[in-house]
Amino acid sequence: MRKKVIAGNWKMNKLVGEAEQFVEDVKESVPSSEKVESVVVAPFTHLHALVEKAKGTDLKIGAQNMHAEESGAFTGEVSPEMLKDIGVEYVVLGHSERRELFGETDESVNQKVHAAFKHNLVPIVCVGESDEQRENNQAETIVEDQVKKALKDLTNEQVQDVIIAYEPIWAIGTGKTATAEDANAMCTHIRNVVKAFAGDEAAQAVRIQYGGSVKPANVDEMLGQSDIDGALVGGASLKTDSFLALVEAG
Ligand code: 13P
Repeated sequence: MRKKVIAGNWKMNKLVGEAEQFVEDVKESVPSSEKVESVVVAPFTHLHALVEKAKGTDLKIGAQNMHAEESGAFTGEVSPEMLKDIGVEYVVLGHSERRELFGETDESVNQKVHAAFKHNLVPIVCVGESDEQRENNQAETIVEDQVKKALKDLTNEQVQDVIIAYEPIWAIGTGKTATAEDANAMCTHIRNVVKAFAGDEAAQAVRIQYGGSVKPANVDEMLGQSDIDGALVGGASLKTDSFLALVEAG
């Protein structure tokens, strides 16, 4: 039985004081991490304070990106070692906003996934097709290609520990959710793709989230699907009551 993982991706929202207050307000109420993994994915400037606030609770903290190198002349970047050093446990990699707006490629995502494993960070690897690609019946091949390239050269054991987030771009921040059946069909496809290159054990263990306009009203239906093991949530993760409703559904 795969443990569900619910991650709130705050994107570029909240000031540090608001973020600390949020964590203060939810940290004692999130479900046991034996049952579900509850993660807040916050901007870099907030991470240290949030890790300290959440210490000893079931709430985990993640970053929204990182560089693949450990250190060096990379002005403006943050390394995996820096994240690990302050107690961050998860890192979102290859979010469609980073791919579209900041030049993230399948190759750079792959390098970062390897770097995450080197530093014991859990990678949440985002994949997903655009509206146009879905219209042209390319969704499955696009997503398959992204998954294979992002996880290239990992050991089968490492693949088991990856979290893949299927986020169709047309459903992000639009209020347009994929139907639970369509979302599940893509997650099943992803699992089959993983099986083909990493074997059945890895495919059964790897966790696949759905993301894109997830909210308390539709989370149960999504999580009830056979191959959806959690949610990566933007807008609905910004308020304490809806964040708690989401993690309780996990
Ligand atoms: P929304 O939940 O706001 O659609 O955002 C989804 C997302 O991009 C999470 O990473």
